[in-house]
Amino acid sequence: MDTDYLENYHLELKNRKHKILDELWELTQKHLDEYIGKITKSREELDILMAVENTDEFKTLLKDLSCVKNSLNELYTQFLDDNLDTDLKKDKIIALKEMWKEEITTEEITRAVNCSKGYTRQFYLLDGKVVQKDGRNGISAKTKRYVLKRDQNSCVVCGSPKNLEIHHIIPVMGSTIKDQDESHNLALLCKECHYLAHSGNYYKGLAYEDLEGFWEWTQNTEKTKIWLILKDIHGVGLKITENIYRCFPSMEELENANIKSLTRVPLVNKGLAERIKLKLDNRII
Ligand SMILES: [Zn+2]
Ligand SMILES: [Zn+2]
Repeated sequence: MDTDYLENYHLELKNRKHKILDELWELTQKHLDEYIGKITKSREELDILMAVENTDEFKTLLKDLSCVKNSLNELYTQFLDDNLDTDLKKDKIIALKEMWKEEITTEEITRAVNCSKGYTRQFYLLDGKVVQKDGRNGISAKTKRYVLKRDQNSCVVCGSPKNLEIHHIIPVMGSTIKDQDESHNLALLCKECHYLAHSGNYYKGLAYEDLEGFWEWTQNTEKTKIWLILKDIHGVGLKITENIYRCFPSMEELENANIKSLTRVPLVNKGLAERIKLKLDNRII
């Protein structure tokens, strides 16, 4: 499932769910309002509620609600199947929560992951990241300061000082190393390079294999090299870089490209092809 479709479908189901819940609430309120003046014994309120539950309207709404809940559950389990290789409940909870933040309820996670509510409640959002109670404490302020200084307040790949993020070289999710929040496992990356490091997908593989591989990756892969040269050109983003890399998988091939062959890259028009060519030529001279 592609992300846009997933997002839209999820939003649609959530809206439907809220609408049904609103209608159930209104229906109950309406019945209570109607009879509230006539109630003489406290038990009668319960009788009214039970009478509401037996109306066809109420039953239909409940049936609709259960359908929407099933569809949501299918969407969540499909998402987990598509994006996670592990079968760890912990990883599943983190993935769902990071994807849908406050939008997904404890009840929905518990059902999709098939664990207890108590376990789901151990995980909560802190600053957009999922944290487990009594588990890891995250990166300490001291470590953060150290990493910023060590990496000279700039992205270790492209040198940009903007939109910096701290990247876990070996990911926290599914990781077994205890010192994952220590400086040797952290590196400063700008938003774009961070995206590249994760191969554009936060749940699937990384662009490198291990700690050593990461530092090599920061300077040496063809894709990084291409990105570093193209990123300052007006109109070039990650998507176009990805397309260019697919058509010209090495620097050498890209350097030999002419304007005509560049315009064959999806999303590259003539103007952009000219700017790319200019940049490549100036660089070679
Ligand atoms: Zn990262
Ligand atoms: Zn960068």
